[in-house]
Amino acid sequence: MIPKFKYHPDPLGTEMFRQGEIKTCCCCGRQTDIWYDGPFYGDCDVRVPDDDEWPYERMDFVCPDCIADGSAAEKFQCVFQADELVGERPADPAARDEWLHRTPGYYCWQEPYWYTHCGDYCAFLGSVGWKEIEEMGLADEIADTFDEKINGSFTFAREYTHRHGHVQCFLFRCRHCGTHFITVDPD
Ligand SMILES: [Zn+2]
Ligand SMILES: [Zn+2]
Repeated sequence: MIPKFKYHPDPLGTEMFRQGEIKTCCCCGRQTDIWYDGPFYGDCDVRVPDDDEWPYERMDFVCPDCIADGSAAEKFQCVFQADELVGERPADPAARDEWLHRTPGYYCWQEPYWYTHCGDYCAFLGSVGWKEIEEMGLADEIADTFDEKINGSFTFAREYTHRHGHVQCFLFRCRHCGTHFITVDPD
């Protein structure tokens, strides 16, 4: 069982947690068969490959519990978010603390924008293409909430985005009103 992350509810589904091998967590020292494979930001000494080496396997592994309880952020003096928001910055410092220090981040080609809505950070649902958006019945809703200032052309997004593709979308859902949003991420 992995802990609950309210701003990133399915980190195995989004592939920011990996599983299937036994690793030793470099924070708590326990063995884990699920580990974080997302970004760290800050002057931290977790030995991750630099960009040139990507996607070589991370050299240090952090278990889900150490993300969820804040111990990895504290021990390595790092955050998991680049702090690039779409929408108003939530006022609640506790929400910000949970999002920055206790929520798995995500990798993308461009800036890892994170939607906010209803005064809170949205839930990050991962990479999708237009096909998945249609399959989820979200096409009309996304057409309404699509932000061309952030994302460029809507027509382009509808025609050229693929899940984990060279042009992908990231899907977010407001935890309060349920509205869905996407960012478009071209390589
Ligand atoms: Zn750990
Ligand atoms: Zn909302």
